[in-house]
Amino acid sequence: MVADSCLAGSHLTGNTAAGVSAAEVPATGVLTVGVLGLQGDARRHQDILSASGVTSKRVRQSEDLEQIGCLIMPGGESTTISMMLEANDLLQPLAAKIRAGMPVWGTCAGMILLAREVRGGRDDQVHLAAIDIVVERNAYGRQISSFEASLDIPTIGMPDFPAVFIRSPVVIEAGEEVEVLAEFRGQPVLCRQDNVLVSSFHPELTSDNRLHDMFLKEAAKCLDIQNGQLSNAAKELTTPNEASFLPSSSVR
Ligand code: GLN
Repeated sequence: MVADSCLAGSHLTGNTAAGVSAAEVPATGVLTVGVLGLQGDARRHQDILSASGVTSKRVRQSEDLEQIGCLIMPGGESTTISMMLEANDLLQPLAAKIRAGMPVWGTCAGMILLAREVRGGRDDQVHLAAIDIVVERNAYGRQISSFEASLDIPTIGMPDFPAVFIRSPVVIEAGEEVEVLAEFRGQPVLCRQDNVLVSSFHPELTSDNRLHDMFLKEAAKCLDIQNGQLSNAAKELTTPNEASFLPSSSVR
């Protein structure tokens, strides 16, 4: 049984410096990490994964989901990704996998797509309601107001993490079940609930791979890959569940 709370309550102690540590992840070919590749910054995530010796796969259609153990949903444009998820018939199968416990990490636009409620979205924008947060799109400002901030993330230790914010969403509400792993100006920017991890910034745009390492370690633990049971775990992850999709708020 895949634990519902496999990413919750983690007690990771990694505190190595940026770029120095290699993730304690299964050898290449054991864990395949999906990277949603409909639009956005999939390539850079894949580069980081391959530098750590981890196999990744672009996910563009539902069949791709059968070959992955966990998924990264990159930054980009959530409205476009939303449309493409629907056009590629990926929305329902993806929601089912996440509900069945597949570890998923949404960065920036990916965070928006995983949120319970999206403000400032298009009327027809869909999202997965996989984590109990309310986000406001573009609330840190426009592209020209992009910035970098040093974040204290106790879960990964010192030094601070260099976080790049590009038209990022602001988390305006986080439910009780949500662990806030990092804040910026008093607002959550890195959150986790069960198998769902979200960051409002772009961790793939720096040379610091500690958050990728953290996600991979927890995904491996969650899937019990260390014991060579990926195939069993993966079978459980295919359990179909009723997906529910909430329409975004009508605020544009
Ligand atoms: N503002 C974008 C959106 O709403 C997200 C930006 C990003 O992913 N860098 O989708």
